[in-house]
Amino acid sequence: MNLIFLGPPGAGKGTQAKKLVDLLGIPQISTGDILREKKREDSPLGHKVREIMSEGKLVPDEIVIEIVKERLGKPDCGKGFILDGFPRTIPQAEALEKILAEMRKQLDAVVYIDVPDEELIRRISGRRVCEECGEEYHIIFKPPRVEGVCDKCGGKLIQREDDKEEVVKKRIEVYNESTAPLVDFYEKKGLLKKINGVASMENVFESIKTSLGV
Ligand code: ADP
Ligand code: ADP
Ligand code: ZN
Repeated sequence: MNLIFLGPPGAGKGTQAKKLVDLLGIPQISTGDILREKKREDSPLGHKVREIMSEGKLVPDEIVIEIVKERLGKPDCGKGFILDGFPRTIPQAEALEKILAEMRKQLDAVVYIDVPDEELIRRISGRRVCEECGEEYHIIFKPPRVEGVCDKCGGKLIQREDDKEEVVKKRIEVYNESTAPLVDFYEKKGLLKKINGVASMENVFESIKTSLGV
């Protein structure tokens, strides 16, 4: 299945995408994760990406489109993929259509996880990630067994720099301005599956599976 996970920052895209990866055995392609890798590089691109992300802005379309194009060409995408955090603008969505057409592929569905702003802030402010393996936690909703320590690898849990309050507000603003129009874009194409994201992680996953018929 070829899927997109759409929704505001903190809606639960990453959490739900990972559950679906385990179920369907198709890869999750998170542009956020790929860009966080890139920003570690000591190169002009690395520095540029670091600056943009720390301000909560979007990385330019050309850069992200190129990354996704390359990633979708890898053999593990043959059985399908879950795009998590891409597309985030109309030009990105249009570029994706072109890329998929060239590969003779089609989207099966766009899973839109709907969560109101107040809840997003609660989720993002409690989000912690493992510095070593990237596993995600929430201090209240998905706490690790030992505070500050990853259950999986023992790594240290940290708060993402762009999860600090001022940057989160900016990211939500950017979402409403640049990304929210994609809901309509995919609705018109008959691809949108709107999911109520205000429920437990398990119940949201049940709704997603039902909507996809898996
Ligand atoms: P979240 O899952 O909380 O929405 P992500 O990890 O998806 O956050 O994204 C973090 C940051 O990476 C964004 O604020 C943005 O700067 C950059 N980014 C990720 N995906 C894209 C994209 N498709 N286009 C432009 N910038 C992106
Ligand atoms: P996104 O990828 O959309 O930015 P995440 O999947 O990273 O969102 O979730 C943001 C934070 O909220 C994480 O700390 C995660 O553990 C937590 N979370 C995700 N889904 C739920 C849920 N249904 N209820 C409560 N907390 C959740
Ligand atoms: Zn870890």
